[in-house]
Amino acid sequence: MTRYISTRGHGTSKDTGPKNFEEVLLEGLAPDGGLYVPESWPTFDTKTLERMAGQSYVDVAAQIMLPFIGTSIDHAAFTKIVHETYAGDVFDHAAVTPLSQLSPNVWMMELHRGPTLAFKDVALQLLGRLFDHVLEKRKERVTIVGATSGDTGSAAIEGCKSCENVDIFILHPAGRVSDVQRKQMTTVKADNVYNIAVNGTFDDCQALVKAMFNDAKFRAEMNLSAINSINWARIMAQIVYYFTTALALGAPHRKVSFSVPTGNFGNVFAAHVARQMGLPIETLMVSSNRNDILTTFFETGEMKMSGVEASLSPSMDIQISSNFERYLFDLVGRDALKLTELMNEFKKNGKFKLSDALMNQARKDFRAHRCDDEQTLAMIKSCYDETAQVIDPHTAVGLSAALSMQGDPSVPVVTLACAHAAKFPDAVEKAIGRRPQLPERLGDLMECPELLTPLPNDLAKVQDFVRSHSHVSKKSAA
Ligand SMILES: *Cc1c(COP(=O)(O)O)cnc(C)c1O
Repeated sequence: MTRYISTRGHGTSKDTGPKNFEEVLLEGLAPDGGLYVPESWPTFDTKTLERMAGQSYVDVAAQIMLPFIGTSIDHAAFTKIVHETYAGDVFDHAAVTPLSQLSPNVWMMELHRGPTLAFKDVALQLLGRLFDHVLEKRKERVTIVGATSGDTGSAAIEGCKSCENVDIFILHPAGRVSDVQRKQMTTVKADNVYNIAVNGTFDDCQALVKAMFNDAKFRAEMNLSAINSINWARIMAQIVYYFTTALALGAPHRKVSFSVPTGNFGNVFAAHVARQMGLPIETLMVSSNRNDILTTFFETGEMKMSGVEASLSPSMDIQISSNFERYLFDLVGRDALKLTELMNEFKKNGKFKLSDALMNQARKDFRAHRCDDEQTLAMIKSCYDETAQVIDPHTAVGLSAALSMQGDPSVPVVTLACAHAAKFPDAVEKAIGRRPQLPERLGDLMECPELLTPLPNDLAKVQDFVRSHSHVSKKSAA
């Protein structure tokens, strides 16, 4: 059965032994500050992949994820949760992540068919249900707190709004998220969802969340939990669509390449895992905007922290890609000591450099590309002119990288459409002169009444609010 270890090696095997899926799901970050990964990658042989070709998304999803669950969750219960997530009407297309064709050899995987129009729905819809199931079994409740600059908050809220055992508090910087993004969070009607508009910046929101986690008494009292991008279960759910897409385009007998708009390295790492599991992937392209720390790393071998600049693709405006640590762990031969040294060096000096031998391998695993705002706008326009498809700025960054690849013409290139154009209407209007429409099923979003609580940038006030609204505290008081 699959067990999980920390990339930093401590706090798992020596103390309590490797963790199971359920523990990893609820804990998120390992106690030593590392990230959880399976002890080994499960693999699928050609025969099994052949059998999967032509199966529905939900059936492939169950088969791909089961080895990661092990015996931690009852198989029948897990399969039921997977069906509720991917076989109902949560996503507005039967294929969940359908493909569209942009040119003879370039395809687009549409990851924006979920309730909040961004790819994070694919994982967070599953995560909310898994959390609820596990908590029900344990007779526990948790309080989830998180900060958002836009996309993650709404996907997390949509994923948790039906959970019986979860209260979710999302902090956003008042007046600093787009109207669509705010409405997607504040119009959700559920008595376990709380939107807090902090009078401050996104960094202030993040600092407040961090401070709540660092307050051991409060953390225990509220049974705090997080579903941020380092949670293993999010990666696991994202592996699936690389399989379904490659199988649709001819795998296992034909190789496929992917271009992935990258921020925290979660989505592209899931593709790397799919390859480790036996999916024949030719090239994996790490696509960045002007915040190109990853592109520079693949060029020079040096990972160097630098300031973040606001771009047209804000979900990729990151300084450190938290999930990169998972890849680095594999790259250094799963040597937790060596990995910990590198991460400590990065923390201390803001940089580290890898040997030529390691970089040779890294450049076999990934290629990297950058695309600035001007190129992003030009890409949205040329895609519209040539295919009549309206794409969002993140998708444009990925497409620009996909078109830069000049590989074997018999290998299809798939670029990931990570968000719907209507989430970023200003950039799209700037590029093509018209505003994209929200999909019909979100039609009256802009008219729905909003529910949010404005609070000052003050830890005690935010904690008071969480304490007085979380059902965890009500239960313990009773
Ligand atoms: C979150 C997000 C990304 C970045 O994905 P990572 O998994 O963090 O690399 C890219 N595009 C959009 C639209 C996103 O919401």
